[in-house]
Amino acid sequence: MEIRAEPITLKLATPFRIAHGTSTARHNVLLHIGSGVGEAAIVPYYPTTVEDVIAYASDFKLEEMENDGSLWLEDSLDSLPDGPAPARAAADIALHDLWGQYLKMPLYRLWGLNPARAPLSSFTLGMAEEDEFRRKVRDSRQYPLLKIKLGTGDLEQDEALVRIAREETDARLCVDANAAWNVEQALSIIPRLAAYDLLFVEQPLAQDDLTGWKTLHAQLPPSMPPLIADESVHDSRDVLKLAESADGINIKLAKCGGLREARRMIALARTLGMQVMLGCMVESSVGVTAAAHLAPLVDYADLDGNLTVLNDPYTGVQWKQGRLHLPDKPGLGVTRRQ
Ligand SMILES: [Mg+2]
Repeated sequence: MEIRAEPITLKLATPFRIAHGTSTARHNVLLHIGSGVGEAAIVPYYPTTVEDVIAYASDFKLEEMENDGSLWLEDSLDSLPDGPAPARAAADIALHDLWGQYLKMPLYRLWGLNPARAPLSSFTLGMAEEDEFRRKVRDSRQYPLLKIKLGTGDLEQDEALVRIAREETDARLCVDANAAWNVEQALSIIPRLAAYDLLFVEQPLAQDDLTGWKTLHAQLPPSMPPLIADESVHDSRDVLKLAESADGINIKLAKCGGLREARRMIALARTLGMQVMLGCMVESSVGVTAAAHLAPLVDYADLDGNLTVLNDPYTGVQWKQGRLHLPDKPGLGVTRRQ
């Protein structure tokens, strides 16, 4: 079966500033397997490069399907070589797409999921100076759920961004510190931010600070918004480590290696009584639509990675007032733009 890597550059409508740095474009890789397509999201603060994904794609072969397609997915996924998570995710997504095409059904239908059960998806606002941030919030009033990136390096400034958002919109708010705070800072600011009625607080602490997570969870009052782990949780092996100290996990296909692993993580988190968020990186409609097929299984969705991309090569899941509308075509259901 033909396997082909296609590097793409995604241009952003506005620079995206988070605690890890600022981006004006991202370089991802589409992976085509037969008529299936997947995407490897390349993130500046993780080690995988475009070249790593291209090398991965040249590293495996797949036999043409011999049965009717229905018995083929798991074996194909098992035959993929180990490699960086974004590359494995791209291959996993492309194989799921192909599987759905063979069976002539959208993925969510093959999994028995009702798309009406998908939660609202948040729209993310990067950090900015106060006046510019106020403008950004005003420009985002059509979104019923806003995620505010924090970690400016100054807790007063972090709180000011949330206060401005609260002043300018009636939307539900949540925040993502992208690992910017230490335990003392988190214990100080989370109760202050909670006064603005937050849906959750994401990744307050450093990725590997598991002791800090335990301390934070134990010392915050129970009335605080749930703590969701993002950078600290890559795949299902990480979920157990945080079972006692995070209230939920943020699953991203580029971190965990694809849809099969994401479904394992959801099952494990539910077994442990944890909440589940589904996130994405800056991605085209390929990667975002793949994740969106799982949205009926989760509590929170943050699938806006394609919305500020100016040159998305595909169409797929559509946004209407924060609601995700999945395409009804087989597989991922994405379509190449002309
Ligand atoms: Mg995050």
